[in-house]
Amino acid sequence: MGSCSLSASQLEVETHGTPPACRLKLTNSTQADTKDDDPNFFRMVEGFFDRGASIVEDKLVHDLKTRETPEQKRHRVRGILKIIKPCNHVLSVSFPIKRDNGEWEMIEGYRAQHSQHRTPCKGGIRYSTEVSVDEVKALASLMTYKCAVVDVPFGGAKAGVKINPKNYSDTELEKITRRFTIELAKKGFIGPGIDVPAPDMSTGEREMSWIADTYANTMGHHDINAYACVTGKPISQGGIHGRISATGRGVFHGIENFVNEAAYMSQLGLSPGFGDKTFVVQGFGNVGLHSMRYLHRNGAKCVGVGELDGSIWNPKGIDPKELEDYKLANGTIVGFPNATSYEGSILEAECDILIPAASEKQLTNKNANNIKAKIIAEGANGPTTPEADKILLERNIMVIPDMYLNAGGVTVSYFEWLKNLNHVSYGRLTFKYERDSNYHLLMSVQESLERKFGKHGGAIPVVPTSEFQERISGASEKDIVHSGLAYTMERSARQIMRTANRYNLGLDLRTAAYVNAIEKVFKVYHEAGLTFT
Ligand code: NAD
Repeated sequence: MGSCSLSASQLEVETHGTPPACRLKLTNSTQADTKDDDPNFFRMVEGFFDRGASIVEDKLVHDLKTRETPEQKRHRVRGILKIIKPCNHVLSVSFPIKRDNGEWEMIEGYRAQHSQHRTPCKGGIRYSTEVSVDEVKALASLMTYKCAVVDVPFGGAKAGVKINPKNYSDTELEKITRRFTIELAKKGFIGPGIDVPAPDMSTGEREMSWIADTYANTMGHHDINAYACVTGKPISQGGIHGRISATGRGVFHGIENFVNEAAYMSQLGLSPGFGDKTFVVQGFGNVGLHSMRYLHRNGAKCVGVGELDGSIWNPKGIDPKELEDYKLANGTIVGFPNATSYEGSILEAECDILIPAASEKQLTNKNANNIKAKIIAEGANGPTTPEADKILLERNIMVIPDMYLNAGGVTVSYFEWLKNLNHVSYGRLTFKYERDSNYHLLMSVQESLERKFGKHGGAIPVVPTSEFQERISGASEKDIVHSGLAYTMERSARQIMRTANRYNLGLDLRTAAYVNAIEKVFKVYHEAGLTFT
């Protein structure tokens, strides 16, 4: 174990879990890639993994309860770490669609399954021209670690279709989505017990509904659980209340857990709580909007929002509902009347909390030195390059890492999947019983009081408080989702804080989260009784 404070060169040198040949490859490619700090995304995640693995390796060896020699134990630990890191399967497909104008076009798509240590695999589907094999592999591996961090029993996966959805009609998007589903199904890359996609960039309830319908009416027609093949569906198709806003809600809870921690805030020179905090959001999509809504509702002030076509600024605060309505009406945030346009990079704007909620590799060695925020809350996946991560740590800026912070989406997807497998919504069987029981409880209190004190002055009314009245029928689906998510985010935050303390990691919460994830995935492999035959 021992002390493991980060040094500037740690990412490249501390790759104890990696055999020498791979280490050389990693170092070479990292040097080649970082000239303009645009590293290979998958290798970027591998680098973060290596950093976590190097810190936890001794503990894993120490904790092994086998009859092996210390050397054999170390071989076993390194062997399992080698199994965890790579991406297990990558599917690449090309298929034709006929466009509305009669022309034919070939569409490219990918799905990566990083790990099957738990099944099904789980991860979103994104539509973007930036999609590549490298990207889906990186995002799939992040999903493995993310699920482990929040104790969601899935392996990691991710899919991408290489299109700009704005260039296609709804009919064309439906054709693309349905055909992509068939391609996934043919190769064993979708199914309730195999691999379960979800929304990501430029996909939402509508696409998930097409996917569920396609699967359930083809490969899954004989499977009573067919609709559990995808999450993020509309309620009428087996979706769950609160999934759309779940990632943003999780981002809020994730920040809340650290912002309320006086010890962390004093390290940053900030006071605990949201009351006096300003924040900036990059990307006003699903994650950006809902993160903004919950932070605003809890007293923080959004002073800036950045989008691809421009950024807006108002030091007095921007109202999320007004901005959402304006974007719905105008298709852009640019020109929003209650703010001015912001020239320059919104990432470098003056604020306490910066929420990158757009895409990967936004914070690089080019801008990390100009960041003014004291807290970076990674709503997006992979927004910070390893170079930037180092700089931010050296500058005493706290990064709340993606694999923890945006895990609200997969957590609520897990609840949706369970609901689908149970074929009943949460609370459905117990509402009436709980309500009746609670009335009986109140009545029995009333009768006891009346027996003891008599009814001379009239009946003694026992009136439920407004809080109890709201809960009298037991938890609704929404209540379960909200409390389950808050509990998950809090428990994982505590685990990350404990690990950061144990290894003396200071503000390096990313490494602490990786250590937690690695320990959990390692345990699954180890206890499965691997013999390496
Ligand atoms: P989205 O498509 O709903 O929104 C993304 C927004 O960011 C869009 O409005 C887009 O125009 C904007 N954007 C893209 N590049 C930008 C840039 N360079 N500068 C400013 N704005 C930019 O996507 P989303 O679902 O909100 O996902 C955003 C990020 O969050 C992605 O990294 C995704 O992987 C991650 N994430 C999403 C979920 C989810 O449940 N949707 C869950 C976990 C993580």
